[in-house]
Amino acid sequence: MVPVASYIGRFAPSPTGPLHLGSLYTALASYLDAHTNYGRWLVRMEDIDPPREIPGAADTILRQLENHGLHWDDSVLYQSQRLLAYQQAIEELVDKQLIFFCQCTRARLRSLNSVYDGRCQSQKLLTTDSSVTKSSAIRILAPDKPIAWQDLIRGPCSENLAQSCGDFIIVRRDGLFAYQLAVSVDDGYQGITHIIRGDDLLDSTPRQIYLLEQLSLTVPAYGHVPVIKDHDGDKLSKQGFAPMLNAATPGANIEQCLTLLGLNLPIDLAGACVEELLPWAIKHWARSKTSHVKPEKLDFVINLSLIHI
Ligand code: GLU
Repeated sequence: MVPVASYIGRFAPSPTGPLHLGSLYTALASYLDAHTNYGRWLVRMEDIDPPREIPGAADTILRQLENHGLHWDDSVLYQSQRLLAYQQAIEELVDKQLIFFCQCTRARLRSLNSVYDGRCQSQKLLTTDSSVTKSSAIRILAPDKPIAWQDLIRGPCSENLAQSCGDFIIVRRDGLFAYQLAVSVDDGYQGITHIIRGDDLLDSTPRQIYLLEQLSLTVPAYGHVPVIKDHDGDKLSKQGFAPMLNAATPGANIEQCLTLLGLNLPIDLAGACVEELLPWAIKHWARSKTSHVKPEKLDFVINLSLIHI
């Protein structure tokens, strides 16, 4: 791979629980991509959704990353400290007359089959007075044109937001800034050039590209690795099948993730520690290897991790 002149990548966990195998896998993918490109790798804690957060999880995640040798550059950015920046972004969008209050009920939204029909569009925000305290959501108008990007792993992608989701939420009805807004503002603020993350976030990408453009922020390159799925086709998650990461076996955990990322370890690295595994993985990482994770491989990995627990 040809090194990129200036590369800033990031891992942006939400502190809704400790890392599991699936989230270690995406953290590792972004870490390896950054290091292969001689880049910097940042960690941002996306702690702006208190109802979903678990006390202590942010620290646990950072200790887990360190335990697996995934050391970050610079200090961790906490989104809970960035509320003013999100409010300023809202003000910019008000100036552009792109956002409106929405009081549609959950029942009504459910009946729309996930594409918002624009019913509240006439309630434009024309000033920022108490824009985030009113008890209604704020949506941004979705453009009716394709948003295209060259995904670093999946190739050419394109989506028309007006058709796929319609006007989308940037401030929730409970007054909390939505993920789409905060993530875009911070990717721009931190100068992120490359985002490698799970393909469960694929449909967020055109929304983020659109927001970044509206806020005159630089759009990074995106690459989506296939998330690890269980046999029912569900994402490996805390709620589902995800084996807990065993803190006593960081080397074995990294080995499992490397296998899932399509890297075949040489026999002499079997049982190696993370300090040996990571330099090898940085040398051998290739985005193109990540796309074909076979279910048998997952079986193998899950069985292995059950042995380790
Ligand atoms: N915080 C998001 C999550 O944990 C990920 C954000 C991102 O990578 O864009 O799902």
